[in-house]
Amino acid sequence: MSETSYDVIIIGGGPAGLTAGLYTSRAKLRTLLVERMLMGGQVMTTTKVENYPGFPGGIDGPDLMVRFQEHCQEFGLEVSYGEAENILDKGEFKIVVVDGEELSTRCVIVTTGAEPRKLGIPGEQEFIGRGVSYCATCDGAFFRDVPVAIAGGGDTAAEEALFLTRFASKVTLIHRRDKLRATPILQERLTANAKIEVLWNTEVDRVEGDNSGAKALELRDAVTGKKRSLAVEGLFVAIGVTPKAHFLAEILDLDPDGYILTDPECRTSMPGVFAAGDVRKKILKQIATAVGDGAVAAIMAEKYLEGFD
Ligand code: NAP
Repeated sequence: MSETSYDVIIIGGGPAGLTAGLYTSRAKLRTLLVERMLMGGQVMTTTKVENYPGFPGGIDGPDLMVRFQEHCQEFGLEVSYGEAENILDKGEFKIVVVDGEELSTRCVIVTTGAEPRKLGIPGEQEFIGRGVSYCATCDGAFFRDVPVAIAGGGDTAAEEALFLTRFASKVTLIHRRDKLRATPILQERLTANAKIEVLWNTEVDRVEGDNSGAKALELRDAVTGKKRSLAVEGLFVAIGVTPKAHFLAEILDLDPDGYILTDPECRTSMPGVFAAGDVRKKILKQIATAVGDGAVAAIMAEKYLEGFD
């Protein structure tokens, strides 16, 4: 086991984790933030953030996350890269297992966020990186002047459809119902964009292609069951997210969808372990609410360490 003992270990470097890290390091608690891959979380794949206060005209997701990190550095937040595999409860202290190494800490804040959900259809896995993508911001530019489709009906699908019109010759948004979940302002923009066609009550059953990549989708009318083919070279899947909490399923209470259950103050079922951001069961998943959660979890961690909680 590593000799170093932290006051707080934060698992995950998205907006919730970075905010928690800002608060705890500013409060002079010895804090380590462990990130698996890339700091910034899901915001890193967002082109423009328009609804985070303080940035009239919007700000690019990666730019916002660089500001979050710089802000944390001002207060000396320690960061390390690795995959957290488990939390072991030793009563007054916890062990966070990161890539097999045991790090000791007095409390933990889990801010692992969520990852894109998969359709689970034939051809999806086979054509990942050759036509199937879960991130328009990352991969959209590979689809210049060719038709693409996007599956989903929420804010992500709407934003990504709009973004893809910068590159693709045509964007077909495929939604399984007759009503979008996306906010009205995004729906208005979709309707106003001549490059976007919405296929209602339609599901994607299969991705088809050859060695050079995806070429078509097999679609099914959800009402009549009638099948048809749609020629596209890209399928962007934007059907929501799943929480990244499976590694904690044995030790924390999760809801049936795998979100960590907490009280309103971000306490989990294990004393000394808090959860914040999209990995926590809550109504609204936004950067603003992740930031709010991160602050609450940090203050509650501070109270826990002071013995007031
Ligand atoms: P979401 O709101 O959960 O929407 C997922 C969409 O995918 C729904 O339209 C759903 O259809 C559809 N869907 C789910 N499973 C499907 C399947 N197996 N096959 C076909 N379609 C399926 O997910 P999201 O758009 O990723 O957004 C996640 C959260 O982030 C939301 O709270 C959203 O508001 C937030 N967000 C906010 C912004 C912003 O504020 N600018 C941007 C992006 C995301 P049904 O409608 O039929 O269920």
